Amino acid sequence: MATTTAPLDTRSPAKLKTVRIEIKRQASPDAEPRWEKFDLPLRTGMNAISAMMEIAANPVTADGRETTPIAYDANCLEEVCGSCAMRINGKARMACSALIDKVQENGVVRLEPLSKMPVVRDLSVDRSVLFENLKRVKAWVPLDGSYDLGSGPRITPQQQEEAYPLSRCISCTICMEVCPQFNEETGFVGAATIAQAKLFNEHPTGRVLKEERLHALMGDGGIQECGYAQNCVNACPKMLPLTKAISDVSRDVMIQAVKDVFTR
Ligand code: SF4
Repeated sequence: MATTTAPLDTRSPAKLKTVRIEIKRQASPDAEPRWEKFDLPLRTGMNAISAMMEIAANPVTADGRETTPIAYDANCLEEVCGSCAMRINGKARMACSALIDKVQENGVVRLEPLSKMPVVRDLSVDRSVLFENLKRVKAWVPLDGSYDLGSGPRITPQQQEEAYPLSRCISCTICMEVCPQFNEETGFVGAATIAQAKLFNEHPTGRVLKEERLHALMGDGGIQECGYAQNCVNACPKMLPLTKAISDVSRDVMIQAVKDVFTR
């Protein structure tokens, strides 16, 4: 991974400040977590990722002790890959878009892994639960084969406008992190999975699996676990219309349940 950093703000050396980065470390999935503190000069445009890059390249704590390089996930650095989601000063958000001077509180930025995903190491977590849930609802357009199928069905501009916001999901799992219903007790699939079920249910080809998706959202961990806390829609970094998606899919699940009574 590249470790380039923004230049020091030499225009106003008198105002140059440092920022304290506190990181929750965990050497392995079963290890006890611990906190380490690092001091960095506050640089123009510095974000949480560039701060972590500096610390990983020179892992020396604020009290001068050498430590192991920190581990974290990051890839695109522009809120597309979804991999750098973490808790920053207590709030789940993307590290790549978290500007240090905006998120710091009294000169301190605390970085923790998402609390509802198993920790792999330090700030890196295992998000497989989301991908398993997407498999559960068949969140894809089925294909007949790998040969050239020609152009797909036509989609109206109105359909595109409805589908596009849902297609912006980056699988960051922040909606699951902030949801009070997303826990082991309920097994709730979470807002992202429901939104993707809606996206593919409305696709002219994807809708052939609509009934299967709706059945997958009935029962344990299904859509009825949603308590409409609406934390998801407020926290989603890509502003997906999650509450509308949940309402629409909830209605479709109810209609499917009634149909099932007469056809099964
Ligand atoms: Fe992230 Fe939003 Fe997708 Fe949830 S719906 S995984 S918060 S982008």
